[in-house]
Amino acid sequence: MKILLTGGAGYIGSHTAVELLNAGFDVVIADDFSNSSPEVIRRIEKITGKAVSVYHVDVADEKALEGVFEDNSIDGVIHFAGFKAVGESVKIPLAYYRNNIGCTLTLLETMEKFGVNIIIFSSSATVYGTPKALPLAEDMTTGPCSNPYGSTKLFIEQIIMDAAAARKELTAVLLRYFNPVGAHQSGLVGEMPNGIPNNLMPFISQVAVGKLARLNVFGNDYPTKDGTGVRDYIHVVDLAKGHVAALNYGVKNPGVEVFNLGTGIGYSVLDIVNAFVKVNQIEIPYVITDRRAGDIAECYANAEKASRLMGWKAGLTLEDMCRDTWRWQKNNPNGYE
Ligand code: UDP
Repeated sequence: MKILLTGGAGYIGSHTAVELLNAGFDVVIADDFSNSSPEVIRRIEKITGKAVSVYHVDVADEKALEGVFEDNSIDGVIHFAGFKAVGESVKIPLAYYRNNIGCTLTLLETMEKFGVNIIIFSSSATVYGTPKALPLAEDMTTGPCSNPYGSTKLFIEQIIMDAAAARKELTAVLLRYFNPVGAHQSGLVGEMPNGIPNNLMPFISQVAVGKLARLNVFGNDYPTKDGTGVRDYIHVVDLAKGHVAALNYGVKNPGVEVFNLGTGIGYSVLDIVNAFVKVNQIEIPYVITDRRAGDIAECYANAEKASRLMGWKAGLTLEDMCRDTWRWQKNNPNGYE
């Protein structure tokens, strides 16, 4: 099967490309490289020993996207393309709606035109809004989201569900990611945030490599075991394998299905710092600061549905996440430059 990955050169897309190629799928990547590097493609090919077809296109550009479908007989799509910075989405919400939703509409229309009937969507646990209960399960109510980035994910889920209701041949698997961290075990691909990282693990690894002086721990007065925020961190390679499982599931089970991709385990900020220090034998200086606006105390998945229906389960540990993050950071202090 030939699978199109929109945004396939990004952090999660690149790891998914590796797992798809390893599983015997052909991979076509469409990416505008606005937040990724063409070097990623070379690394994917180096890891897998297989070739990838690459198109430097904006997925919202109908003519350019049609060219990709004309050149390739696409059997399914995994849709990663989109802006993803939470803070930026608050500052330029219209750009986020225009880009993330625009890309999706063009993609769905093009899929219909070319008779492509399966889409896997890169959604997020942020669609649940402030958790009403924990762990979060797929049948819990969604929204309102605390930022426009999250709202784009929620709205796109709805758009895909509406498209699938109107066109019965369309199968969709919506994947709600918890907190992806880590990097491929080869140390060749990983996360490359722009500027100062917002997320915890990239921040820690930049402290470790000496680019940042210390970590600010955003609050230690939450009602959690040590007062710091608790999240469900998932190794990006497990997450990538979740996409392969979703594709195999969608091929056999027409319709629309939603899955959490998490481990079901919550770790605090200090758990992550302590594990990173222990596994990598490197100091991470930190200070406790005020809470970050908009943060919640705890968020973790009920991961049972993906295990029951897709036979997928996260297998890598917190130690794996810390070790692999550091290997990537240490080997590539300036990302793909
Ligand atoms: N966090 C922190 N310092 C940082 C970045 C994050 O203490 O520099 C905390 C944050 O308050 C939250 C956890 O780490 O409790 C995960 O934050 P991240 O931004 O990675 O993910 P999200 O909040 O979107 O789940």
